[in-house]
Amino acid sequence: MVTDPLVARMRPFGTTIFAEMSALATRTGAVNLGQGFPDTDGPPEMLEAAVRAIRDGRNQYPPGPGIPELRAAIAAHQRDFWGLEYDPDGEVLVTAGATEAIAAAILAMCEAGDEVVCFEPYYDSYAASIALAGAVRRPVTLRPSDGGYSFDPDELRAAFGPRTRLVLLNSPHNPTGKVFTAEELALIAGLCLEHDAVAVTDEVYEHLVFDGAHVPLAGLPGMRDRTVQISSAGKTFSCTGWKVGWVCGPAALVSAVLRVKQFLTFVNAAPQQPAVAVALGLPRSYFTGFRDSLRDKRDRLCAGLADAGFGVLRPAGTYFVTADITPLGGSDGVEFCRSLPERCGVVAVPTQVFYDDVAAGRRLIRFAFCKRDEVLDEAVARLRKLSAA
Ligand SMILES: *Cc1c(COP(=O)(O)O)cnc(C)c1O
Repeated sequence: MVTDPLVARMRPFGTTIFAEMSALATRTGAVNLGQGFPDTDGPPEMLEAAVRAIRDGRNQYPPGPGIPELRAAIAAHQRDFWGLEYDPDGEVLVTAGATEAIAAAILAMCEAGDEVVCFEPYYDSYAASIALAGAVRRPVTLRPSDGGYSFDPDELRAAFGPRTRLVLLNSPHNPTGKVFTAEELALIAGLCLEHDAVAVTDEVYEHLVFDGAHVPLAGLPGMRDRTVQISSAGKTFSCTGWKVGWVCGPAALVSAVLRVKQFLTFVNAAPQQPAVAVALGLPRSYFTGFRDSLRDKRDRLCAGLADAGFGVLRPAGTYFVTADITPLGGSDGVEFCRSLPERCGVVAVPTQVFYDDVAAGRRLIRFAFCKRDEVLDEAVARLRKLSAA
């Protein structure tokens, strides 16, 4: 028997909390608002295009950087929505989801010991990808304030230093639903310039901003040349299982990412790539309709959670809402979420697992609202039992 085959740098990372909570949902028959996947399909034009591509024999390795029609559609999308110009040949790269793009960017640009500034709570792959690269994370804590989340600018300034290589920014932010303000983005951009750091932006929720507008960091003065912009089809087109993501940036940064990416997966999703090109070209009404429908769901679940007694932190974007369990007598989110299926038949995710500073997130849990209205209503009806008991 091989004893402990796992490298030391991966040992702190257990099974993801999503696996544990989804297994709990299946075992108990609870309503699963834990994992963030939609329970309806994406646009039919996109689904049909994928079926057609399979029938038309587009089933072999696509080109390394992605098929030309998808790269052109990504560049057109960046220009039309955000006013950012990228050359489809050399400044756009298709990846196996945003997850691979993030991992490849970190592995491509960080030497062992380099530091990555990021905001906690963070998406669960960030810490693992930083660790795989042998880099060091420098978390800045987002704390509940004014019904949303903010950070201390001095804490951000202090996180930068001579070893800072990257800043990893996710806005709109999972799990908090925070949309970084213009002032916050300007501060981050200024620090990147001052410290000659590269920004890696995770913008998978770019089309889910309910209050205000999405502003890519790459659009700020001086930032286009030092930003690796990442997004994906999964959230925008309700196809999280397709794993079609992309990277946009200046050629030098994109080719660095490609150098690593080609040895992680080489390529992926041949028949889905033309379908995502179709989806990116859908009329504006698709994108606004999708956002409006999720905004209604946000309002529906936020009202229900407040009614059930939670301290709701209303999200400005994404399809997640976080809630404070203190008013319901809870003090530890992990304990609370482990017992929730038995107590009332609902699954949520404790957000403390996404913090280095566990105490900062101990009382917070996350619900996903990318679910059919009747599912949200059923979850709320069940959660009401918590305060009635
Ligand atoms: C879902 C999600 C991802 C992963 O995107 P894929 O395209 O499925 O790899 C990355 N970042 C955040 C913040 C997410 O919520």
